[in-house]
Amino acid sequence: MSIVVFVESSDKKVKKTSMEAVFYASKIDNNVIAVALGSAHDESQLGELGKWGATDVLLDSANKFDSGDLSLSASAISEVMKTKNAKILVLATSPFGSGLAACVAVQLNASLATNVAELPDTSSGFVVKRSIFTGKAFQNVNLTNENKVIAIKKNAVDVVENGSVINISSFSAEVDGEGKIKVKDVDMIQGDILLPEAERVVSAGRGLKGPENWGMVEELASVLKAATACSKPVSDMDWRPHHEHVGQTGIKVSPQLYIAIGISGAIQHLAGVNSSKTIVVINKDPEAPFFKEADYGIVGDAFEVVPKLIEALKANN
Ligand SMILES: Cc1cc2nc3c(=O)[nH]c(=O)nc-3n(C[C@H](O)[C@H](O)[C@H](O)COP(=O)(O)OP(=O)(O)OC[C@H]3O[C@@H](n4cnc5c(N)ncnc54)[C@H](O)[C@@H]3O)c2cc1C
Repeated sequence: MSIVVFVESSDKKVKKTSMEAVFYASKIDNNVIAVALGSAHDESQLGELGKWGATDVLLDSANKFDSGDLSLSASAISEVMKTKNAKILVLATSPFGSGLAACVAVQLNASLATNVAELPDTSSGFVVKRSIFTGKAFQNVNLTNENKVIAIKKNAVDVVENGSVINISSFSAEVDGEGKIKVKDVDMIQGDILLPEAERVVSAGRGLKGPENWGMVEELASVLKAATACSKPVSDMDWRPHHEHVGQTGIKVSPQLYIAIGISGAIQHLAGVNSSKTIVVINKDPEAPFFKEADYGIVGDAFEVVPKLIEALKANN
């Protein structure tokens, strides 16, 4: 048996979530075939997937896959799975990956689970834990079909090197040339680090009193190579742009580190950040609800704590 992993790249770099998908698959089966489609990939980067557990990497670099057409990519993945006798597809939950997972599941009559948060439990069936209700609950589902499609959420596994760089092989998927949809353009938001993809996020709330005080937030983010975020009222008052608003009605983030400054920790805010690996809260009110969710908490005035934190981080750089 083998497992197929669909790989996405951005700026010619394999996305971290795709590395996680490869590593996740390697914990289920020893034979992991990573498949990359389109011209957005760098061959040497793809070879690095061997380090995370891929045993083969297949690349079809035809630019017909760049159009964003789900059915073309799904047909190519289904073809590889049939040829290689793979019964499981693993991929990262993403704007493209989620749709692809559904298309492949239909084509292969597979059991589908999205937002999967942990490795499967195979002691009785094939049970995966899904994150639901914007991270407020988990659901265990048994994937009963022989074919399975598993879309994992960010940080579902902690990746560690378990292999070495491998050669990649080219292939040419026998799928129809013209897709049914084409992405016209993509409007990127400003900023070097995309908030949904960020490994570190520095976020601030109404406790900062006004937009003129965001200099220290941006400086802390810059020292940590982090993205900036904010609570909803902050973007509602136009202190910060709307694309920075995280929470139930904003962006959901799952960084390794989330620093919340002057944010109370209302459930609607937590819904968007509670799958962060490590949460650090800075708040002057020791009763602030956010402290219950924090791995580390600093009770203090942000205007005193944050400059000291920046100073300490700079001294250690
Ligand atoms: C349907 C619905 C959807 C919502 N969706 C979202 C959402 O997606 N995201 C979201 O964020 N909110 C959302 N909200 C709003 C949410 O309920 C809270 O009102 C909001 O998160 C509060 O923002 P805040 O913590 O920045 O402000 P506040 O609640 O005003 O908290 C400010 C915090 O700063 C602290 N503070 C004050 N001064 C300092 C200082 N000098 N140093 C340190 N700390 C200080 C205070 O102790 C306080 O804890 C939603 C609400 C509803 C009803």
